[in-house]
Amino acid sequence: MKHLLLCFLIATTCPLFSQGLIKQALSKPHHASANDTLVGCGSFELMKHADRVKPGFLKAANQYLANITNENANRKKTSSGVMQIPVVFHILYNDTSANLADSVIQDQLRVLNESFRRQNTDTVNTRADFKPLVADSEIEFVLATNDPAGNPTNGITRTYSPTKYFGGVLPYDQTQMQEIQDWLNDSLYYNYFRITQDSLGGRSAWNSLNYVNIWVGDLRIFEPKFNDFEELVFFGLATPPANHPNWPTEIYTELGGFQEGILLHYPVIGSNNPNLFPTPYQSYDALVRSGKILVHEMGHYLGLRHIWGDGDCTMDDFIHDTPRSDRSSSFNCNHVANNCVDTILGMDLPDMVENYMDYSSGNCQNSFTQGQIDVMRTVIETNRPYLISTRSFVVDANPAISYYPNPTSGQITIHFNETNSDATIRVFSIDGSLIKTHEVTNSTETKIALGQQNGLYVIQVHSGNGISTFRVLKQ
Ligand SMILES: [Zn+2]
Repeated sequence: MKHLLLCFLIATTCPLFSQGLIKQALSKPHHASANDTLVGCGSFELMKHADRVKPGFLKAANQYLANITNENANRKKTSSGVMQIPVVFHILYNDTSANLADSVIQDQLRVLNESFRRQNTDTVNTRADFKPLVADSEIEFVLATNDPAGNPTNGITRTYSPTKYFGGVLPYDQTQMQEIQDWLNDSLYYNYFRITQDSLGGRSAWNSLNYVNIWVGDLRIFEPKFNDFEELVFFGLATPPANHPNWPTEIYTELGGFQEGILLHYPVIGSNNPNLFPTPYQSYDALVRSGKILVHEMGHYLGLRHIWGDGDCTMDDFIHDTPRSDRSSSFNCNHVANNCVDTILGMDLPDMVENYMDYSSGNCQNSFTQGQIDVMRTVIETNRPYLISTRSFVVDANPAISYYPNPTSGQITIHFNETNSDATIRVFSIDGSLIKTHEVTNSTETKIALGQQNGLYVIQVHSGNGISTFRVLKQ
């Protein structure tokens, strides 16, 4: 206790005390890195956990992302047109402070949309070298207007939960670091994903094929044997894109509540949130309370990685137009750092603290690059076509492609107005499942049979002219 008291008096020399027991476990020598003492994002940590559940997952995930990037680079252009994606915020509260007002959620949505549409005023702060690389994603998010049963909704659910700490309650003290390591691997992610399941004190997802589910609650861990410390490890985390190759389905059993979406600690929502971070996290009030944590997590949900690749200079984020770095920016806004050599537009660009996928402070994040945007749009179109096809956005009207008849009794003809077309055609069912993939080589026309069931199908045509998405009715 004397040691703890001393640490309290000179907190800056005792960062481990101020970080809680989980961060102490993460800071053991074989884990040591500057970032381990920071509160951060749990998305890559979740992917590493998935790799523990099913070794090989991360390698397959890296290849999946590299393939998307390379495929995009080989196209003349990717799809264009504004996509509107319905979102639902599930608020879980144990006390009234976490039951955020509608105005906070609406402000969060404003920040999310301004950021994705590059309409935020701080885009003027993007350094000149990066200006040719950044863009408007033409992705927008709208609060759902109908729930899965078709009833009107404001896109916000509110649920009282008997669970105060969705990070869980740690049953160990500082003498039991190995047990804490094991708990971190065995219990932490199970605890978090309770928020996504009615039966575990959370709120079950609305069909993630049709909505982006965003859960908001208290993600801290309570440590009763460590002076009742309330430890914050992650501001938020997002699940990786659906249909990820080598996805460990075992995780659905292991993480009892696992459903896809984004989990956020309630004080990071919006720029007008009345909740302050308590000691020892109060410095984050100035760093992350800008509504941009959700922008970062939505980037993960749509397939992006951290801009530093979660590793040294040899680790890439698999995006061609983002500079490499060997570390996160640690919530600084350092315009001088240039930790790795790379060549983009003929230059060795500095670390891009402007990027939403860094750990820079919200005040200096203002950009996605075109390469990142292309990945997110491709992930939506190939993994989540029903997010957009349920809304008025139907077709990236592509004059190079026509199709008929629609409706059809079972088969459609796709005609390429340019000769010598190579294309990949994907057919999705009403629930977003991929039914078939059809390759076309050097052809002007091809015929595709839809599935057995009558109803709507989503067809995507990937060709040298980009991606066309359209709906066909079988009747
Ligand atoms: Zn992240």
